Amino acid sequence: MYCPFCRNPNSRVVDSRLQDDGGAIRRRRQCPECGRRFTTVETTSLTVVKRSGVGEPFSRMKIINGVRKACQGRPVTDDDLALLAQEVEESIRALGSAEIQAHEVGLAILGPLRKLDQVAYLRFASVYQDFESLEDFEAAISVLRAEQAEAAAAKPEG
Ligand SMILES: [Zn+2]
Repeated sequence: MYCPFCRNPNSRVVDSRLQDDGGAIRRRRQCPECGRRFTTVETTSLTVVKRSGVGEPFSRMKIINGVRKACQGRPVTDDDLALLAQEVEESIRALGSAEIQAHEVGLAILGPLRKLDQVAYLRFASVYQDFESLEDFEAAISVLRAEQAEAAAAKPEG
């Protein structure tokens, strides 16, 4: 990183700070040559590749907007959606890849959404997984039922 004032190729980090959402680190740097300070922002790039092959930067807002429709009329708050988007981003970043296919983003949404609201999940899944028949819904619902039974069984008595 060149000093933006004198183009000296070395700089010293004097302060590092994690941004509020944890998605970036701001570093205060000082140039040992001219003594001036400047800031750099370090972030991991994450590109979503659409079916058309066009890439665009990952956006939590897009996740929220995509899920909001499925949550219409459901007891889901904006905070819930923000948390869900954060969870989705974390799970995608955990894959360690700089690029992800759009349908993989859809799949990453399904898990957290299922925990959040089962009806919204079914609506969302029916679109993303191209449900074509009642059988598709029945299959998805029986998975939800099995999970509920499992959760109930895992609950400690009393
Ligand atoms: Zn300098």
